[in-house]
Amino acid sequence: MEQQIIHACGHEQGHYLTGYDSQQERKAKWLKTTSCRDCFVAEKRADEAAAAALSSAAIAHLNLPLLTGTDRQISWASTIRTKRLAALTNANSDAVCSACLRVTDAKWWIDRRDLTDVDLMVAAAQAPDIQSATAVTASIMNTPRMT
Ligand SMILES: [Zn+2]
Repeated sequence: MEQQIIHACGHEQGHYLTGYDSQQERKAKWLKTTSCRDCFVAEKRADEAAAAALSSAAIAHLNLPLLTGTDRQISWASTIRTKRLAALTNANSDAVCSACLRVTDAKWWIDRRDLTDVDLMVAAAQAPDIQSATAVTASIMNTPRMT
C-alpha cells in the first residue's frame, strides 16, 4: 500500500513500499532522510549545470571552431564537446588534443560520445575533416614528452 513519506526537504510524497513490515519500516525510515523526487531531480540538474559551467570555464581559453550540422546536432554536440575537451585538456597538453580541438562535425561528436579519452583522440586523428593535420598530430603524439 502507498505510504506518505515526509522527506528531508520537507515535501510529502507517496511511496509503494513492499516486503515484510520490518523491511518497509526500514525503507520508510531511509526515505525520510532523502529528498523527494522533485527535489532530487532539481538537485541533479543544478549539479549538471554547475559541472557544465566548470567545463566551459576550463576550455574558455581554447579558440574552438564552430560545429557544423543541424541546430539540434550542434546544440547536443556542443555539450558533449565541452565536457570531453575539458577532461582531455585537463589531463593532456593542448597539443596532444589538437586533433579533437579541430573536429567540427557535430555528428562525429555525438557518434563518439561514449569513447574513452584515448580512443577519442585516436578517432580524432583519423577524422575526415582533419585528415590533412594527421601527420602533424602523429608526430606530436610520438614525440617523447620532456617532463
Ligand atoms: Zn522536496
